[in-house]
Amino acid sequence: MKSVVIYGKAERPLVDSFGRVAKKLRISVTDRCNFRCNFCMPSKPTWLPRGDLLTFEELTRIAKLLSSMGVENVRLTGGEPLMRRDLEVLVRMLAGLPGIRKLSMTTNGYFLAERAPSLRRAGLQSVTVSLHSLKPEKYEGLIGVRGTFDRVMNGIREAMRAGFDPIKINVVITRGCNDDEVLDFVELARRTGSYIRFIEYMPFDGNKPWDRRLLVSGKEIIEIIGKRYTLIELPREAGSTAKNFAFTDGVKGGVGIITSMTEPFCSDCDRIRLTADGKIVPCLFSKDEYDLRPLLRSGCSDEEVEAFIRAAFMRKFRGVETLIKGVKPINHIKPMYKIGG
Ligand code: SAM
Ligand code: SF4
Repeated sequence: MKSVVIYGKAERPLVDSFGRVAKKLRISVTDRCNFRCNFCMPSKPTWLPRGDLLTFEELTRIAKLLSSMGVENVRLTGGEPLMRRDLEVLVRMLAGLPGIRKLSMTTNGYFLAERAPSLRRAGLQSVTVSLHSLKPEKYEGLIGVRGTFDRVMNGIREAMRAGFDPIKINVVITRGCNDDEVLDFVELARRTGSYIRFIEYMPFDGNKPWDRRLLVSGKEIIEIIGKRYTLIELPREAGSTAKNFAFTDGVKGGVGIITSMTEPFCSDCDRIRLTADGKIVPCLFSKDEYDLRPLLRSGCSDEEVEAFIRAAFMRKFRGVETLIKGVKPINHIKPMYKIGG
């Protein structure tokens, strides 16, 4: 007899041609951002016309359909997601979808202090703040806006106070810039019980072309930490992009490395991405994107939208073993701030 695999509650999961099943959706709610991080944003960014952004109703319709196909986790990103007006309204709509088990957001933290309580009340469950240096001057040079560091640190504190505890902190490590701060970040994790996720620098052009010599591998980062602390690697969750570690002395918090360049975990990738203007992006490292907005705005049925999403996901790029050898900056139609990371 043929065996039957049951994926979550979905009767017909969203599957690609390699048998990978979609479980996580990343929604970019806007491409706009108040920061100019040098590894993400070109010096002269262009913004989508407002009318091109999917409405909250359109985003919720897609998330609902995807949840009926087994997607359980939704992450809001951007651009800067808190630049999208009334994001709490969208959070409440998404939190009300029965199949969504986890709703989170990645933010630069600038607007977090004043928004954390309302986001929490609306049903947001977890927050990741990007913080690439603990030295104010370096941080502000890197993100390109002065007078931001104290505000972001306060945002992290207020988010914890609002109940987003533990909090995750994303750090993009680049050689010669912030690789001297790895241990400082680990100490922050130990002091505050937060989770620091060191991200390998990925080949998207920011305000200068991507340069592989700036890439610091996850392995190097763990070696640096290992000189001072003993870490224990935790079992990897299926589909996770991070390798996670706890401290052996039992201190709360932890460390993760996102080895997208040196160990990309493509074989069980369970992500699907939606850009702010309604393009389905099945893989971050492929140029393929599928424009759902014209169909959505043509008055089509849910069955037609579902068929479109299934066909797009079926063509998801197989992935790579490693991206470090011979990699050139990815010639995306869209840079990182337009996809959402
Ligand atoms: N604006 C929000 C923020 O910065 O957290 C959300 C959007 S941002 C594009 C999502 C994540 O991508 C952030 O953690 C950011 O640091 C990361 N990122 C941007 N450019 C990157 C690059 N070239 N390599 C690795 N990570 C990058
Ligand atoms: Fe903006 Fe985030 Fe890109 Fe920085 S990484 S420029 S905060 S979108």
